[in-house]
Amino acid sequence: MSFRWLPYEGKRHAVHRGLQPGDDGETLCGTAVSPVPERTPVSEWPASWHECPGCDGEWRQREEIPLRCNRIAACAL
Ligand SMILES: [Zn+2]
Repeated sequence: MSFRWLPYEGKRHAVHRGLQPGDDGETLCGTAVSPVPERTPVSEWPASWHECPGCDGEWRQREEIPLRCNRIAACAL
């Protein structure tokens, strides 16, 4: 697995696994992250911050993981 989830600015985005706290980087959906925040346990992530659909789709495409649902239009919500 090459990526990890990162809670950032209201969503759970995905970033490259090698990106370290303090680095400048970019999420898979193209959001600039500067600097990358410290890692926090998933249990401390805000419950209202949902997975970013752009990052989820990009991650699945790059790692050849099937999309979560069969209808692409529904996945884009
Ligand atoms: Zn994202």
